[in-house]
Amino acid sequence: MNAISRYERLLPIASALLGSCLVGPLLAEAGRACREPKTFRIELCDATALESSVLRSARDEAATLFSQAVVRLSWEMSCDTPPPTNPSSARVYLVPKLPQPIRNELASKHGKTNLMGYVLTAPGGTPGSVIYIATPAVKLNASRFGQESPNESRLARALGRVITHELAHRFLRSGHTRDGILKEPFDHRDLTDDDISGLFFTSEQVRSLHQVFGCQGGG
Ligand SMILES: [Zn+2]
Repeated sequence: MNAISRYERLLPIASALLGSCLVGPLLAEAGRACREPKTFRIELCDATALESSVLRSARDEAATLFSQAVVRLSWEMSCDTPPPTNPSSARVYLVPKLPQPIRNELASKHGKTNLMGYVLTAPGGTPGSVIYIATPAVKLNASRFGQESPNESRLARALGRVITHELAHRFLRSGHTRDGILKEPFDHRDLTDDDISGLFFTSEQVRSLHQVFGCQGGG
């Protein structure tokens, strides 16, 4: 449980910020229902030499979870350009360790360094477009007790769920909630269970995701 409890973001962001961040530029279309699933664009960059089959399955897992919110994900496996700034885009780095400045800050403020994921804060204090995920920490938390490493399918499932959680921070401009996809901590069962019913988006969160595209509802 201690290992799992390390999973948290540095700065919980009040969901109340959502309105002030998004309403301005989207006023013209606000309130209009989405006629079809909208697509978030994700750049995924792996520096941890994962098998392509693991990455593919992790993407599929994240896509399945986001489909609950009537949202699609499109993926690019390239990070040659500067990180995206569009509110419907994000970049996910899979890394051996979180970058040292982040670990230093986590250690000094929270006494924790071995988190699974972290969203860089954008100017203004909301979750930005750059996400780091520490693959070894995900492996550790997805492992069965006494096993060194989860098998490929278990790792892919866990990675997909952590990616989804961090993307939810990004696109919802939100900190943690008690239940659902933004629950904290993510425990072993959340990472690996066949049953994903606990990893839901609330109806309010679905509306918020659609507001990123200037529309509401899942029509
Ligand atoms: Zn989180």
